[in-house]
Amino acid sequence: MAQAAAPRSGEVTRTVAAHHACGMTNVGETSVPATTGPLSTHVAHTTLVLEHLVDHGPSTRSELATATGLGRGAIAGLTARLIDAGVLRPADADPTGDGRATPLSLSAADRVLVTCMIGADEAIATLAGLSGDELGRFTVPVPAQADGAPATPAAALDSLGAALARALARAERSQHPVADVTVLVDGMVAGSPAVVITDARFGVEPVDVLGELRARVPALAEVEPTLLLPPALEPTAVAAAAAERGELPGIADLLYIEGDTGVAAALVSGGRPLPGAHGLASTFAHLPVVEDGVRCECGQRGCLATVAAPELVLERADLAGFAATRGRAAALEELVARVDAADDRARWSWLDAARWVGRALQLVVPTIDPAVVVVGGYWAGLVADIDTAYRANRPTLGGGALGAIPTIAAARAGTDAPLVGARRQARERLLADPLLLAG
Ligand SMILES: [Zn+2]
Repeated sequence: MAQAAAPRSGEVTRTVAAHHACGMTNVGETSVPATTGPLSTHVAHTTLVLEHLVDHGPSTRSELATATGLGRGAIAGLTARLIDAGVLRPADADPTGDGRATPLSLSAADRVLVTCMIGADEAIATLAGLSGDELGRFTVPVPAQADGAPATPAAALDSLGAALARALARAERSQHPVADVTVLVDGMVAGSPAVVITDARFGVEPVDVLGELRARVPALAEVEPTLLLPPALEPTAVAAAAAERGELPGIADLLYIEGDTGVAAALVSGGRPLPGAHGLASTFAHLPVVEDGVRCECGQRGCLATVAAPELVLERADLAGFAATRGRAAALEELVARVDAADDRARWSWLDAARWVGRALQLVVPTIDPAVVVVGGYWAGLVADIDTAYRANRPTLGGGALGAIPTIAAARAGTDAPLVGARRQARERLLADPLLLAG
């Protein structure tokens, strides 16, 4: 360790460093008002520095000043406080002895993000660095039942737990302490502790997925006290929306919709996820769009899920058997191919679902006014039909100006969007509170 920093980091507690600009006068310029004062008032500058270190690895103060556009004096003060707080440390021995030429690294640089989810046919757990670079991926099939019906919730949780256990074991073997564990679920997440409800796989009643995983994966309970943040339960659609937002610079308000596992949506407002007061914003699947429609398993009549859920669309398209033998993902791919090939049965099934998705958008879009509706999953390949259904009944006010908004566009972030977005959110949670990264 560098001699310049070690003694000071031993002297100063995190709490003190967070509330006083102590030690600043020992390092470089001192008369920079923008970096004096409590660490908490410099979140934006601190975030710039931390983001550079996360993305580019150890950097000298001079490199940080150039990369962030902050002055050298500002960087000197900021890095001094972050070293005091234990967030940064010299990356190697300092040849000059004054500390200024020494590259600095994040104390938490070796930490990894663990993200897991249940995909169409398999459970997936990944390990990634704080930058989001994937370091490992573990998949476990989610077996269908003997009669071809989807896996039971217990079987799905077993697969998810097995994938998570492998990821945690890899992290331990490779001596990467875990920073964050995020579990993605298809339903809505509500309550404290968080539970999933209205999940196409787990059912409409609440399920304590994190509790179920703790019971299945002893390593999760072991690692939990050492995490930088409590394990997170997040809707898959919210994570996917975060990834899609990364593909749309300048767009702060978007609605993400998809229909692969169930029917799901997520709203980004002012650049941030909008969960609502109870976590129930964007409960798209249970919008009652069909007057006097059939009873949904949620107890309400005419929910969008009762006319646009993937298993229903596949069954009507005569692809239920295909899904049972080849898997849901392959069946949805086949459905899109058949619709494109003008297969009557596939087109009839799909266009009926698309009509109701368009109807739901006619209700939701005026409520939230997104700049873009991002269409994910297999719907992305058929986005023109959703666009047509949506625009079939729109106001003609303003010379048709309302008819052109919003843009309805196919998702761009790819099939890994939920994993990519979840890592992005975990990184944002960590960088928003730099003291979490103290070593
Ligand atoms: Zn419902």
